[in-house]
Amino acid sequence: MKRLKMLFLICTLMAASLSGLCQRAGIAERIVIDAGHGGHDLGAPGALVDEKELTLAIALRTGNAVNKLMPEVEVIYTRTSDVFVPLHQRAALANNSNADLFISIHCNSGPSPTTFGSESYVMGIHKTQENFEVAKKENAALLTEKNYTENYEGFNPDYDEDYIMLHLLQNNNLEQSISLASMVQQQMRATAHMYDRGVMQAGFMVLYLTTMPGVLIETGFVSNPAEEKFLIDTLNQQNIASAIARAVMDYRHSLLPAPQMVAPADTITLPKEETHK
Ligand SMILES: [Zn+2]
Repeated sequence: MKRLKMLFLICTLMAASLSGLCQRAGIAERIVIDAGHGGHDLGAPGALVDEKELTLAIALRTGNAVNKLMPEVEVIYTRTSDVFVPLHQRAALANNSNADLFISIHCNSGPSPTTFGSESYVMGIHKTQENFEVAKKENAALLTEKNYTENYEGFNPDYDEDYIMLHLLQNNNLEQSISLASMVQQQMRATAHMYDRGVMQAGFMVLYLTTMPGVLIETGFVSNPAEEKFLIDTLNQQNIASAIARAVMDYRHSLLPAPQMVAPADTITLPKEETHK
């Protein structure tokens, strides 16, 4: 019993010490979790459910998983109910809150009903037409906003040439965003048992407008009837949420300074000229 108490004390001290280190280093203490779409913006339609319902369910579960795993991290949601939030307002919320990470949760759709798996996107130049089409579909949400031409400086997600504007801006958070996205994909394989389609880049308006490292996760395909059922299952939603929360934890750990290797005193040997004096 004493041993158990001691173990508990050691674990508590380690958690407190890690939390303290993270706080001193300013590492991902505040994260914004963004449930894609909402309200009149249904997102990708599935046979049984719309994307907006799945993104909200997974986003809320992700927030809870983060709270449980890292109570010291503050979670901010862009929406907690079925309401429409313009893309620029989602980004503004993250920027004005001085968030350290932005995690946007979506579900994919494609022309083939057999395509499946999860993929994570960071803001950048698309390498394939397929990736470009994903960004175009997600950016189409802004067309449902009033005054979208004013809010996005005339950007139209349907015009290929308008993406040049997005690509001109250097993404200062690219390295960190790719690091987070890789950890998300790793956890999607290990914890959510999903097929890993990889980390990709494309011009997503919501990532373009945010000023911190960010990732847009396409958790799975609602256009695939089998994967749609998988995504509706609450246990699978919970596993996806745990995967994302664990990726955030892995990311925070990766930012901690490497421990200094100090040799034990009795293994330190003095230089020769010193030992022969
Ligand atoms: Zn979406």
